[in-house]
Amino acid sequence: MSEKKYVVAIDQGTTSTRCMVFDRKGLPVCSQQMEHAQIYPNPGWVEHDAMEIWSRTQDVIRGALSAGNIAAGDIAAVGITNQRETTVVWEKSTGKPIHNAIVWQCMRTQDFCAQWQKSSGWEQTITGEGKVKDITGLLISPYFSGTKIKWILDRVPGARERAERGELLFGNTDTWLIWNLTGGPNGGVHVTDVSNASRTLLMNIETLRWDRTMMDFLGIPEAMLPQIKPSSHVYGNTVKHGPFGAEIPIAGDLGDQQAALFGQACLSKGEAKNTYGTGCFMLMNIGDKPIPSKNGLLTTAFYSREEGRCVYALEGSIAITGAAVQWLRDNLKLVDEAPDTEYFASKVEDSGGIYFVPAFSGLFAPYWDMTARGAIVGLTRFIRKSHIIRATLESICYQTRDVIEAMQKDSGVNLTSLKVDGGAVKNDLLMQMQADILGTEVVRPVVNETTALGAAYAAGLATGFWKDESEIRNNWAMDRKFASLSTTERRRAMYDGWKKAVEKSRGWTD
Ligand code: ADP
Repeated sequence: MSEKKYVVAIDQGTTSTRCMVFDRKGLPVCSQQMEHAQIYPNPGWVEHDAMEIWSRTQDVIRGALSAGNIAAGDIAAVGITNQRETTVVWEKSTGKPIHNAIVWQCMRTQDFCAQWQKSSGWEQTITGEGKVKDITGLLISPYFSGTKIKWILDRVPGARERAERGELLFGNTDTWLIWNLTGGPNGGVHVTDVSNASRTLLMNIETLRWDRTMMDFLGIPEAMLPQIKPSSHVYGNTVKHGPFGAEIPIAGDLGDQQAALFGQACLSKGEAKNTYGTGCFMLMNIGDKPIPSKNGLLTTAFYSREEGRCVYALEGSIAITGAAVQWLRDNLKLVDEAPDTEYFASKVEDSGGIYFVPAFSGLFAPYWDMTARGAIVGLTRFIRKSHIIRATLESICYQTRDVIEAMQKDSGVNLTSLKVDGGAVKNDLLMQMQADILGTEVVRPVVNETTALGAAYAAGLATGFWKDESEIRNNWAMDRKFASLSTTERRRAMYDGWKKAVEKSRGWTD
């Protein structure tokens, strides 16, 4: 067992970057977090300044180590987790990005994607047919990195030729930070892991290598792509003159949702977690074969501990969950703070027969229907503010059930327990309602910072700080379990109502 006391995780998120220090029990010791600017050059476009992200990363590392009085000599390893898909292209010789980072939420390549689906014969349906889904496990969508890289290479003069000559590098923010932490233009290592690579539209989901067909179709030279490595692996050392002030192995790299699945110790086939934030992200460990989804989910690499092999996950994302609570707070002014929803929703026994389908920007998994728009149905004069608030919380639970049903169909696994994390799981009523609507136990862990913890685990496993996966399972501790208090008939009737409400919301726009 190593003598060192801590593992450091860097969580490079969409709105902020956080550095967290964990001890051997997987408990947080200290942390620091800083936001970065969100840049909106056009409606639906979102960018970040990659230099600002690098600068904030250095600040939060120094800040966290200083807040906890942590000596670099006590750190066994560093793990990185990151907002997935966000695309950075930079000059190898200077470390300067040639364009702002294009963020996962950015829709600028939507027209290209629509064209691609129509004209290439590569179209796919949510039932899982189609070339792109077969090769990558994904759908044709502006969400993934591939079309974002293409956009930069098409727009920045000379970029494609420079990329072919190996003068430009691509990375998601994991790759960008690892390259900078290991020396940047002076010998920085250019790597990513399978979980991030599987979100680019460029990685073959079976071979775990960059796929020639996809690279050729999008016109992306292989010379600019990072090497795909396991998620738990020593990539290189931080440099002495960097923010750690010492050489420490960087040994973990996982996309944020996969990191949360790892941090929740969902290490056996059939285990799943749901993260309740602005949207919801549900992932299920499906073992070492990439099951193609026939029910509107994505197939994605979960993690790898050895070259050429990985554990896979099915993923279902829901666009609007916590964001619907924000809408009650900011647009309707029904509550002052998000946690007040628990108080108001508990004042009524049920939602009075109404359903709220928060399809503000269409419906994601498992429907993938961009023509749907938000709807509150079943209104009568009886309905009060508390009913609307309760229906909002219920909408989070119903949407989660939609995704779980798809996952169960695809995987053949009947989920008996769901691990939860994210900002909204502090709401006990929401968790109880979730158990009631699913008929499945909902389990909340003590450490809710599962994303950073997952990255720390990946790094600690690669360096022997933690011996094996059983230590990680043992560290996982439950805060509270919510068992269903509802009857089967009531659950069925409520869910039937939801399905009817979803139908009403669909086909609203062209
Ligand atoms: P993200 O990481 O997506 O920014 P967080 O994990 O911080 O989000 O979760 C915040 C989201 O959860 C917000 O959308 C907020 O409206 C919602 N939320 C936070 N606390 C509660 C609560 N007690 N009840 C219901 N929703 C909540």
